[in-house]
Amino acid sequence: MTVKKRLSSASRGFAKGNFVIIAGPCAVENRNNYLKTCRALQSTGRVDFFRGGAFKPRTKAESFQGLGEDGLKIMLEVKEKYQTLLISECLSEKHIELMEKYVDIIQVGSRNMYNYELLKALGKIKTPILLKRGLSATIDEWLSAADYIIRGGNKNVILCERGIRSFDDKYTRNVLDISAVPVVKKISSLPIIVDPSHATGRRDLIIPLSVAAKAVGADGIMVEVNAEPEQALCDGRQSLNIAEFKQLLKKI
Ligand code: PEP
Ligand code: MN
Repeated sequence: MTVKKRLSSASRGFAKGNFVIIAGPCAVENRNNYLKTCRALQSTGRVDFFRGGAFKPRTKAESFQGLGEDGLKIMLEVKEKYQTLLISECLSEKHIELMEKYVDIIQVGSRNMYNYELLKALGKIKTPILLKRGLSATIDEWLSAADYIIRGGNKNVILCERGIRSFDDKYTRNVLDISAVPVVKKISSLPIIVDPSHATGRRDLIIPLSVAAKAVGADGIMVEVNAEPEQALCDGRQSLNIAEFKQLLKKI
């Protein structure tokens, strides 16, 4: 199957009620690690989209910021090798044209959900957009952000619940608002997936919350997986290793 055909079947997959799985490391950190991780993911035969950040929105300026276009080139190598589909985050309007050349879904991260100029610009393109919920966004604000993209003409918007900020951050990075899934299902026709990795920051919680996401009717999950999570520069503690990812597949 050509990549294009697979993309349209995967997009239909969201609409048809298939449980879509997006997996891969937080960031593309180096070619060896990305290829090793994706080879293992591919061997499961269950991954619909491979993720990897090339432009990383990091809290601290001194942290690893991503490889930029070099990271996208590594992702493209994987795409061509495995005839797979890619998703990666776009941080800025000035990168949209570049990202369109490489990826099949453009991700808008939590920090950018309120970046209306970026949303308007993404409304003008055809590439599907994964819109993450802002860290302090109400469901209405999130759906309104989606509307910016849709009104621009791009109707391929997929929502991603990734946890919201709360008073209790002792045990988890954020609080996964699992009720957002059935709420959104009632008031919107957009597909919605869950990201248990950023919601919790803890790899030991990813399997139970993925099961929960499926139980409440989510259209899929996005999970951080790394062949060598202990060496990751970014989000290693919330990344499953390959054996754990295989466990997850068994449970769902
Ligand atoms: C990510 O998915 O890599 C990411 C940065 O997530 P979020 O925007 O949800 O923090
Ligand atoms: Mn991450």
